Amino acid sequence: MDIRLSKEHGVNPSLSYCPICGKDMDVVLFGRLPNDEQAPRKVPSAEPCDGCKEEIDGYEKQGVVFLVIDDRYHEFKNKSTPWVFFHSLHVIKREAADRLTNGFTKDKSKVFMDLSVAKRAGIVKDPEEGER
Ligand SMILES: [Zn+2]
Repeated sequence: MDIRLSKEHGVNPSLSYCPICGKDMDVVLFGRLPNDEQAPRKVPSAEPCDGCKEEIDGYEKQGVVFLVIDDRYHEFKNKSTPWVFFHSLHVIKREAADRLTNGFTKDKSKVFMDLSVAKRAGIVKDPEEGER
């Protein structure tokens, strides 16, 4: 691994956590960041932990797993990992999921869905409604 060291923060370490359960996962070395900034103490991992992955696989037997992600995901140019913006997980029976998505989920067991869309579809209740 080749990282540029920060003069001020050295390897500039951070700890990644599972975006679903919050469990600590790996040490991430950022090295020199733009403006020689200090890395955040914790960052969401690009993938959920093994325990959560197993749990999600289990849910797939019950229906289609909808992984709701924060709309901020779209503000980022690097869209390699929607997991970082994980909001909540919902299991919806296959027929209902197919109806909801016009058949898009027919051959899928897992889909990512925007929070705003999930709210409109009634998958996520919006406790903040009317507050903004
Ligand atoms: Zn986890």
